[in-house]
Amino acid sequence: MLQLKEVKETIIAGSAIQTFDFFIQWHLTERCNLRCRHCYQGPRRPLEMTAGEVCDEIDGAVRMFRAWESEQDVRVSPSIHFTGGEPLLYRGFWDVVRHARVSGCRVAVMTNGCLVTDEEARRFRDLDVSEIQVSLEGPPALHDSIRGEGSFLSALRAAERLARAGNCVSANVTLSRLNAPLIEETVKIARDAGFGSIGFSRLVPCGSGGALLESVLSPGEVRGAYEKVLSLDAPGFPVVSGDPLAGTLRGGAPPADCGLTLSGCSAGFSGVTIASDGAVMPCRRIGISVGNLRRKSLRDIWATSRTLWRLRDRSSYRGHCGSCSYWPSCRGCRAVAYAWSRARGRADLFADDPQCWRIGD
Ligand code: SF4
Ligand code: SF4
Repeated sequence: MLQLKEVKETIIAGSAIQTFDFFIQWHLTERCNLRCRHCYQGPRRPLEMTAGEVCDEIDGAVRMFRAWESEQDVRVSPSIHFTGGEPLLYRGFWDVVRHARVSGCRVAVMTNGCLVTDEEARRFRDLDVSEIQVSLEGPPALHDSIRGEGSFLSALRAAERLARAGNCVSANVTLSRLNAPLIEETVKIARDAGFGSIGFSRLVPCGSGGALLESVLSPGEVRGAYEKVLSLDAPGFPVVSGDPLAGTLRGGAPPADCGLTLSGCSAGFSGVTIASDGAVMPCRRIGISVGNLRRKSLRDIWATSRTLWRLRDRSSYRGHCGSCSYWPSCRGCRAVAYAWSRARGRADLFADDPQCWRIGD
């Protein structure tokens, strides 16, 4: 079994990173007040950890960060992104947000916005939550057709309330064939509604979204969409994407022989997902559990999971991704690769990203 020492040397010192931005995406609940067509959750509703258990696990994560700092001579900049389901439905939501802030973690919250009142907006500000992401799909009719009747107005009202209270609020768009032709219009809607920025990511055809395979963009369409996104980025209103494929459009490729992860897909590298029942996953959209906090600490799971180690190892990757010069800063979206290969009857976490336009160039 791999030891903690190897994690330290390989994941932190080995990456030659001085400040390690590490995030935990924490799904507090899978309960939701909406039924979005592209949701990555399945129909199962697992048990939830109590707020006390979540706070204990935050303490454990902070101990892990401090140990990395003292043993590796790096600064860890941790953030926790609380989400759901709809996180505001979680009993004890404000307790865990407060605990994370007091523990020294930056906090972001991802919400559909429907339950944000003026009171909630003030509480976010008072707790100095760094960012509140509200999902937006595009113009009103399209948004409502994906997320449900009336959800567009709720999202815009939430953005307005949050911004008025002094919060940093960003729109979060899931790109598919349904809304990719409307990127410019969607950016304008977000700007006019008081959002401070907008971010785009790809539809992952898993969970309920598995029925939307025909809406998945082709490689050429993904490239066109991200070129459009990056062209609209402006100093006063950031238009961004954290998708590793979008990242390859900025700057050149790293040295071809670089075997270390530098950026790109965070799965196994710079982030981890905790599901509402304590299951730890490389990414929620991958949906594979690599351990459970009820049985093992996050530090142990991060250090010893074979799946996480394979994600960090170039030789695990098949096809073009494994030999690609962009591997250190990309690795494709592992969730898309997994969902796509599974839909074709051969689930493979290390398959090529089927939406990469460089494959076949
Ligand atoms: S082949 Fe894989 S690693 Fe290379 S750019 Fe495409 S998705 Fe990224
Ligand atoms: S698997 Fe995809 S969605 Fe998950 S962290 Fe990687 S790029 Fe992001």
